[in-house]
Amino acid sequence: MKHQGPLSMNPNIRRLEKRKRIALIAHDNKKKDLIEWAVHNKIALSKHSLVATGTTGRLVEEALDQPVTKLLSGPLGGDQQIGAMIATGDIDVVFFFFDPMEAQPHDSDVKALLRLAVAWNLPMACDRTTADFLMTSNLMKDVYEYELPNYTHYLNRKV
Ligand code: PGA
Repeated sequence: MKHQGPLSMNPNIRRLEKRKRIALIAHDNKKKDLIEWAVHNKIALSKHSLVATGTTGRLVEEALDQPVTKLLSGPLGGDQQIGAMIATGDIDVVFFFFDPMEAQPHDSDVKALLRLAVAWNLPMACDRTTADFLMTSNLMKDVYEYELPNYTHYLNRKV
């Protein structure tokens, strides 16, 4: 759903600017994939600001020669930092190349990140093909406003 104008004054509407705040995370077996994808999308990515878990961020920064805000390494809390930024509205789009074939020591953090991205209705790609579709969407180049899920029933619940 795309909204224009005064809706952006509504606190239940999240506004994504043209310059998106993109989070990048890749598990070890997927880092090569993510780096190749990032290099392929170097020009498009240069129009956005990048934040990443520690090791992914270092590799992307080297490959793109573009500054990346590097958080802690994923298993050391980086996934949780990204999750928190999703919840506070500090990240607009997530590219999370997770490994579907190997258990991670921080599985609970991975699950939490994925859950928060869905809870906040964020655009997120978890594999290269979806990443291509998302990155080439016209909405990546435009201002986009969307309605946040309504959690008032949750906040107002009687406990
Ligand atoms: P890393 O973390 O970028 O520090 O390797 C990614 C992850 O495993 O969540």
